[in-house]
Amino acid sequence: MFHNPQLDTVLIKLASRCNINCSYCYVYNMGDSNWTTMEKQMTEPTMLAIAKSLTELADFQDQRFSIVLHGGEPLLIGAKKLDFFLSLLRNSLGVDYPISIQTNGILISSQILDICSKNKTSIAVSIDGYREINDKFRIGHNNKGTFDQVINGINILKSHPDHEFLNAGLLAVIDPSSDPEKIYSFFKELEAPSVDFLYKDGNHSILPLGKSAIDSTEYGEWMTKLLKVYLNDKNPLPIRILDDMLKVLLGGTVSKEGMGITDYGIVIIDTNGIIMKNDTLKSSFDGADKFKKPINIKDGKLLDFIGSKEFNEYREMQRPSSEKCLRCPILNICGGGMILHRWKDGSEFNNTSVYCADQLHLVENMKQLISKFYLINA
Ligand code: SF4
Repeated sequence: MFHNPQLDTVLIKLASRCNINCSYCYVYNMGDSNWTTMEKQMTEPTMLAIAKSLTELADFQDQRFSIVLHGGEPLLIGAKKLDFFLSLLRNSLGVDYPISIQTNGILISSQILDICSKNKTSIAVSIDGYREINDKFRIGHNNKGTFDQVINGINILKSHPDHEFLNAGLLAVIDPSSDPEKIYSFFKELEAPSVDFLYKDGNHSILPLGKSAIDSTEYGEWMTKLLKVYLNDKNPLPIRILDDMLKVLLGGTVSKEGMGITDYGIVIIDTNGIIMKNDTLKSSFDGADKFKKPINIKDGKLLDFIGSKEFNEYREMQRPSSEKCLRCPILNICGGGMILHRWKDGSEFNNTSVYCADQLHLVENMKQLISKFYLINA
């Protein structure tokens, strides 16, 4: 047993299927087949076992952890089961542990929102930008764009009496061919409280969509343009990834996966109760998110597991190991990126991020922009 392991996030996959079929999705369209044999929705015995284990975890560790309900599409479990599970979690943990749902927004209804409001659970919606950009990849099983349905869900969310608590903002996957200024203005028009941006999944062996070569900087250039728009806005829409990077650049610390050099503890509980590694690893190779000796949450051994050698090795995987990263002047900001972005057939995860050139480009520009900002405002 390793000494006092701490979790930051418990990600729970309530449903193994999705009501849409984003073409870039790591779960269904990047080589992993685990979902095909998985039960479609989490059962009540699994939910009861999770509540019990998380109560033990809360008693055991010093720091609070966040709970993120994910999928597939988590709202596919329906209002009744969602209420059952959220009430169970709140009865077990009280109100101090943040619970959020990451959804594509299509199944948001006033009934779902009432349940979330009652159980102090916020909702973040995935949307990639204006119609033309969102509908490029975020499509339904009928191959049609999902933009109108998502906007409808966001409007229902915005009109709920408890929207200020419920609305946890937007999550967008970057399309470097889009106009960052237009994307930013569009999200401001949606009156989102904040937005976070993700780099697309991919690695050294399968380049992310929109990246032409390992040393190309399409994503870094896109982010730099976004940063300029952001810094010039007197009434900015908070952008989490940029705020976190700026905070570290100015001497602070951030405990977030794929950023900085602090350890970040996350477990994924799959729909059938099996404990998994971060599910984005599925994009590296089939089964990359599985532990060698996995446990099921119903075994009641979560604490033993997060204290085990195998879990400790998984946590250590997050630490950058490539020589270039270890000598990198911006290691404290970049942290070597997300584990999935480091994969390369042959050298496995012992590499820089596939976004290394993008990160160097962005942080260099960030430094220059911040120095100018200080000079102007000195
Ligand atoms: S910028 Fe590149 S070398 Fe530096 S830490 Fe990030 S991935 Fe590693």
